[in-house]
Amino acid sequence: MPQALPVIPGPQVVPSAVCFRCDVCCRFPEQDSILRPYFTEGEIRQAVTHGISPSSFPDHRGSQIEVVRHPKGEGFLCPAFDPVTQHCRIYETRPLDCQLYPFALMWNAQHEKVVLGWDTLCPFLLEQAGEENPLRRAGLEPSELTLPKAFMEQAQRVANYLESDHVLNCLAIHPRLVTPFQPDVVVLHTLDRLTATLRSSNSHDMR
Ligand code: SF4
Repeated sequence: MPQALPVIPGPQVVPSAVCFRCDVCCRFPEQDSILRPYFTEGEIRQAVTHGISPSSFPDHRGSQIEVVRHPKGEGFLCPAFDPVTQHCRIYETRPLDCQLYPFALMWNAQHEKVVLGWDTLCPFLLEQAGEENPLRRAGLEPSELTLPKAFMEQAQRVANYLESDHVLNCLAIHPRLVTPFQPDVVVLHTLDRLTATLRSSNSHDMR
């Protein structure tokens, strides 16, 4: 049986109270969004134990979750998301993919390197970068935005975690935890060990 992934060390960078007021995460405009969270085999087992239907996962060895139509609004929801309370029903055991956010693990634009960055679509992080109103970003490249020191330190912890032996082994089995390039993400770290691991495992398994 695969070992469970350790929880990402360090603080969750976005305070929970802010998350509960926000309407970005856990909701998806399209049913087949590439950003639907990916669950490893162990994470699927935990999610099912905590009440998520097994049918939400097309492949129990590891897969992106099947989203459901929003009961009142437009678009789609993760089935673990409660639109009334705005809470994740499996928050304590949410998958690595969700723990990472608002950091993002993705291929770079040339699909040569795996990188860690932060998502400028997260309103809280954008505010921390001094850009409260996205309109002010007109003409500004995401790469020109910078985060305060505490966030950069947490990004370094996350990068170290992702390149630890145990997590590398897991990512080699589940390469779809790495998303395709996202233009809204500001790249912070190039993950050379992870890139080499995925290249040597010769996996072309992509979202
Ligand atoms: S598992 Fe939880 S945190 Fe992740 S997308 Fe679903 S509701 Fe959101």
